[in-house]
Amino acid sequence: MRLYRASRMFDGTGAPLIEDAAVLVGDNGRILEAGPASDVSARGAEVIACEGTLMPGLIDCHVHLCLSGEADPVHQIKTEPLARTAARATGAMYRYLTAGITTIRDLGGIGGIPVELGKMVTEGNLLGPRVVSAGQVICVTGGHCYFMGREADGRDEITCAVREQVRDGADCIKLMATGGVITPGSQPGAQQMAYSEMEAAVEAAHGLGRKVAVHAHGREAIRSALEAGVDTIEHGTWLDDEAVAFMKANNRFLVPTFSAAIGILGGRGMGVPDEAVDKMAVASEAHAVSFKKALQAGVSIVAGSDAGTPLNPHGSLPGEVRAMMEHGVGSLNALASCTGRAAQALGLEDVGVLAEGYVADIIEIDGDPTEDPWALSLVRRVVQGGAEHRSLSLPL
Ligand SMILES: [Zn+2]
Repeated sequence: MRLYRASRMFDGTGAPLIEDAAVLVGDNGRILEAGPASDVSARGAEVIACEGTLMPGLIDCHVHLCLSGEADPVHQIKTEPLARTAARATGAMYRYLTAGITTIRDLGGIGGIPVELGKMVTEGNLLGPRVVSAGQVICVTGGHCYFMGREADGRDEITCAVREQVRDGADCIKLMATGGVITPGSQPGAQQMAYSEMEAAVEAAHGLGRKVAVHAHGREAIRSALEAGVDTIEHGTWLDDEAVAFMKANNRFLVPTFSAAIGILGGRGMGVPDEAVDKMAVASEAHAVSFKKALQAGVSIVAGSDAGTPLNPHGSLPGEVRAMMEHGVGSLNALASCTGRAAQALGLEDVGVLAEGYVADIIEIDGDPTEDPWALSLVRRVVQGGAEHRSLSLPL
């Protein structure tokens, strides 16, 4: 047993920080007790004194391990050998762990790479975060990200595509409801997947116990997706009042992915295709308005960096949390969005919170993240399933 004592702790629920806190970790890798140090029994455990803030391992709800995060990842994934994509994705896994990110949801890759990397972590054969993988994205023929997706049209074929992903190890399903910024010739606002197709996908996925994430920018497609029963809306660029009210009433999650916009908008003249920058410039203005609406209505917001997209490197989650705060999210709400609430959105019942019975995924960061969101970048310690990663090259 080990007892971590720290001057501060964020428990992942969104409750205020606890001063002089402690977490008791059992030999089975689970948390036995957590809370104010005076309430936690030492039980003869090895005591580890931490100077920083303890919090749950971070959760990034939207990444693409197979995309490089360089200026034009679309060109890369279309042209490079699969072995290179796999090698780069493997390197990204290590980067997540050193950034204190112990769980990621990969929303679309190729060649079964994210699924296999996740399995290797579970087996103990690779250092990296837990991976909740969507397998390949499902899009209509020629739809957004068709170059890395499973194209399918009509209810029957989409049902088949969902079942294929689950057969091949997917933990969740990703649909492309609209066009997107990084696919040449594609319009973000335009609906691509029909309501009936999304309805069939959700029925098949939920029947197999898998949640559904949907890439959706345009108003009509967002409403179709919500009515079809999807669990998380990715991006949510043009949200109207009706969609926001529906999300709040039905507890659907919004993953705003500000980092994707920041990377692309800053990339003109740096190799990011001009078409993508132009499309993002239009979308991001609408996105800010939509996000404010959702925030004010009390929609559940979770953090996803969309890492792998242009100039959006793996491990960029702290920047996403900071961007959320800049768009008006309170600090405790923002911290819950990358810990406890993120786990809820992913359907993970025993991670994301520091409390009895949860998996001991714990990080120590330097400073107080409610005062300075960049504290999330200053990782001193990473504990995963109760195991201390002493060999990682951490920022601190
Ligand atoms: Zn994405």
